[in-house]
Amino acid sequence: MNRRYRKTIIAGNWKMNMVPSQVKGFVEELKPMLPKTRTCDVVLCPPYPLLPAAVKAVKGCRVDVGAQNISEFASGAHTGEVSLSMITDLDARYVILGHSERRADNGETDLLVNAKTLAALGAGLRPIVCVGESEQERERGLTMERIAYQVKSALWSVTPDQLKKVVIAYEPIWAIGTGKTATAAQAQEVCQNIRALLRELYGARAARGVSILYGGSMNAKNAAELLSQPDIDGGLIGGASLKPADFAAIIAATAQE
Ligand code: PEP
Repeated sequence: MNRRYRKTIIAGNWKMNMVPSQVKGFVEELKPMLPKTRTCDVVLCPPYPLLPAAVKAVKGCRVDVGAQNISEFASGAHTGEVSLSMITDLDARYVILGHSERRADNGETDLLVNAKTLAALGAGLRPIVCVGESEQERERGLTMERIAYQVKSALWSVTPDQLKKVVIAYEPIWAIGTGKTATAAQAQEVCQNIRALLRELYGARAARGVSILYGGSMNAKNAAELLSQPDIDGGLIGGASLKPADFAAIIAATAQE
């Protein structure tokens, strides 16, 4: 983390878990466990039907809400899709884009992730753009090539001013939901390379302002070490964001200097 230049962010990706009636209780349990002084921005990203309850539940506490996806289209004949204005109208502030599960389950391409990133930025939402290599790509030494392609594609035609709102999440696919975490050194190496790429694309000043998160089996035990790395500015948390105490322990790990 480097609080001097950028925000530390801990975002919970609830994926397809929980039901609307559980949201209030979750937030009520989390609230007293949040640090007294703000050490990071906290974001909850529940499934769509839980968003209104989440926005209501976090009112008055320092927690933001985000969606897990949006349509690249503004409105109209797109059955089953959810538009940006539906999300912003609820006061959600973030949206996760290009998660590897959406890339795998829904065939989301890098071009589509770029279209969604531009649409989210245009609507004033902060995109959390996920990038990550597969186990095979890592074994074959293709990690940085893959990540660089994903980052460059996602940010195509994103202006330097818009970049200030972008959050990047490095999520090695082999570490998501598997219990296998990247070592702090592996995660730092990739996040540092992402920042170097941003420097090439946007200049040093812009690059040092971008929050880069790590995601992949981050939990209460490994969070402090991962977050102590200079280019890891927080976490995108799946499984461990579903229990208030586990999520709070990761948030607490951002209090280190
Ligand atoms: C995720 O889905 O973004 C994620 C990081 O999941 P988990 O923490 O469960 O590996």
